[in-house]
Amino acid sequence: MKNKPRGPVPSLIGGTNGRPERVPVKNNGYECSRCHAPFVAGQTCVAIPKLGAAYSSAKRICDDCYKHILQKTCEDLEELKAI
Ligand SMILES: [Zn+2]
Repeated sequence: MKNKPRGPVPSLIGGTNGRPERVPVKNNGYECSRCHAPFVAGQTCVAIPKLGAAYSSAKRICDDCYKHILQKTCEDLEELKAI
């Protein structure tokens, strides 16, 4: 008889990155950690936490960079489908 797997299904993608989250930008003076576009208070950005690190060490990236990361993740998945 097969045992039921425990815990969540692990993803092969993402390495040490946690689940991205959309967060509001509260103050001016921050920038995208990839393209260095300045964030303006009141807009939102995407925070990507590092697993095992403090929440404040999350990388904050702009929507454009997030789109590129999603695109790259999709390409990685396509490669995985082919094996
Ligand atoms: Zn950016």
